[in-house]
Amino acid sequence: MALRASGPSSPVASTRCIERSNGFPGATGPRLRAGSSTKPLKEFALIAALSRRFGRTGRSVLRGIGDDAAIVRPSPGYLLLLTTDLLAEGIHFDLATATFEDIGYKAAAANLSDIAAMGGTPQHLLVSLAIPTGYAASDILRLYRGVMTACRPHGVELIGGDTSASQRGLFISITLTGLVPPKEVLTRDGAKVGDLLYVTGTLGDSRAGLHLLTAKGQAQPYARHLIDRHLHPTPRITAGRLLASHGLATAAIDLSDGLSGDLAHLCTLSGVGAEIHSDTLPLSRACRAYAIASRTDPIRLALAGGEDYELLFTVPPRSRARLERLGARLGCAVSCIGTIRPKAFGLRLRNEKGSWRRLAITSYQHFQERPISL
Ligand code: ADP
Ligand code: MG
Repeated sequence: MALRASGPSSPVASTRCIERSNGFPGATGPRLRAGSSTKPLKEFALIAALSRRFGRTGRSVLRGIGDDAAIVRPSPGYLLLLTTDLLAEGIHFDLATATFEDIGYKAAAANLSDIAAMGGTPQHLLVSLAIPTGYAASDILRLYRGVMTACRPHGVELIGGDTSASQRGLFISITLTGLVPPKEVLTRDGAKVGDLLYVTGTLGDSRAGLHLLTAKGQAQPYARHLIDRHLHPTPRITAGRLLASHGLATAAIDLSDGLSGDLAHLCTLSGVGAEIHSDTLPLSRACRAYAIASRTDPIRLALAGGEDYELLFTVPPRSRARLERLGARLGCAVSCIGTIRPKAFGLRLRNEKGSWRRLAITSYQHFQERPISL
């Protein structure tokens, strides 16, 4: 993605990384950041500064930051959507290589993408932080700047949160509310046999960007685009709303873990199988160039790569023309990548030569290496 005009100041590609790994790499203890205006961080002063700079009341918010709870006037006739995402240092990001703006932006984008996948309009935001000792207030204000950069284009208002010290690592939990008319809500469980499978945008860019941040090749001409896609994914709010309000999609999910796993979630909940066609998976030119240079299979990147935050959705064949007529209004391209099949068919991938194989779930899963017992 070309970083949106209102994006964080400078997505300097070179050394920044929001990483998804199973370990807890690097030094994650308390730190004072050289060069920042290191005003010591105190809870109440921080909350006051956040309220002044980012808090809002008005419209539906009767009371924002400052009381024991925010007061919001419910919107009659709408369903309320609620989503939350937790980002843990060392699991989802690495502060040695990511800026606070980058981390804040991505934390907010992950939540916005969940509201998009439900067909909703995002509304209100709560941000909870556990901060190791030694951080400067300016670091946290920068994190909020990233959060608000993602949220502001959608009119989302910050109405509260919580602040704690942390013994190990920075934690950010974002809760976002959204609204959707009852008849328009999109869920994962509505796909029907014969529906067409679509995705927005392109797949695999974020994973390629992550590889580039942690390896060589950042000077390559394609690197900038891929790293931007990794650090600043675009939540598909406009597309989600249009699919919902035009009654086009029977089911939808956002691609946070990777196409193969997220498709499996949608199919399991809908009680169906699916076929997808590798030659129809949308790949950016940058991703193709990266794949050639790094001898990576771009189809594997598209299937396994997480954090693209595109929408995967199903459309009955009779609605195909109406979807395609929406065109540029969606704010992104959409590609038909396969068809919903009966459950017994399972999940299968057809390659460009026409041969079939079972689709392996290769996307990200927490606790994969050290499962927790259930
Ligand atoms: P309480 O102890 O009653 O939970 P707090 O002192 O934690 O109250 O919070 C006071 C106000 O500041 C509340 O409105 C809360 O939502 C807000 N707040 C606290 N931490 C944050 C934060 N990190 N970001 C945004 N708002 C916050
Ligand atoms: Mg509190």
